[in-house]
Amino acid sequence: MKIELAHNAGFCFGVKRAIDMSFEVVKEQSNICSLGPLIHNKQVVDEFKSQGLTVVDEVEDLKNLDVNKVIIRSHGSKKSDYDYLDFNDIGIVDTTCPYVKKIQNIVYNHYKNGYKIIILGNKNHPEIIGINGWCENKGIVVNSEEEFKNIEILENENYCFVSQTTMKLSIYNNIVNYLSEFANHVIIFNTICKATKNRQESASLLSKKVDLMIVIGGYHSSNTQKLAKVCSENVKTYHIETINDLDLSIFNKDMQIGITAGASTPDWIINEVLDTLKNL
Ligand code: SF4
Repeated sequence: MKIELAHNAGFCFGVKRAIDMSFEVVKEQSNICSLGPLIHNKQVVDEFKSQGLTVVDEVEDLKNLDVNKVIIRSHGSKKSDYDYLDFNDIGIVDTTCPYVKKIQNIVYNHYKNGYKIIILGNKNHPEIIGINGWCENKGIVVNSEEEFKNIEILENENYCFVSQTTMKLSIYNNIVNYLSEFANHVIIFNTICKATKNRQESASLLSKKVDLMIVIGGYHSSNTQKLAKVCSENVKTYHIETINDLDLSIFNKDMQIGITAGASTPDWIINEVLDTLKNL
């Protein structure tokens, strides 16, 4: 059985940075909360909880807690959350990925200058909820070409177009082609993160030459779901969170197996899968 790991699999720069910063603060101080789970990976979140980190969903949930500092996760957060924490004098450990922060700044500055904001992404994803919170939740959020074509682009308005960092490149490109018709009053920012693009390209390449792909990562992780989608367009693909989710009876010695992992999947979970398959 041949097993190949995709180039660019596992923790991306932004997640690694956020996890390192969070471990540092949890190790040194008590009464630390995070605003939402730090990453979309249950195993890593459980590890933090065991070290004393409390997870709250909204800043209002902090009211009755004795809180020293609040970690803003790599997905970022709404402007109103920063305002609330500042107002209540609660310290912030801001681990927002710099690529997400850049989108928030673009949206904030253009909104202030009168642009209507169009955001390509999943309206329920924390990154998009956070970004939309930098234009008073007035952004028009679309998640597909079909949804996008229902927007009425008005001649007398200026628009600013940004995308979720994990958006599938082909959807983004199709919308940008369509937007070129309105080039004189729509300003387009390509905000898809290279880590996502590289992962998708490596996964796609690998999935074309193997008999089966395994995509490792949280079931709620947007970038992992997209990797699984990209691979399943080429070959039978299994999305698993850990080795325990894999039915080992599906493998045989003549198979070529490809493996990739989402940006929020730690090395130890990837290695567990690799080692188990190698030992079959
Ligand atoms: S995928 Fe990209 S944008 Fe998202 S956390 Fe990683 S480096 Fe940052």
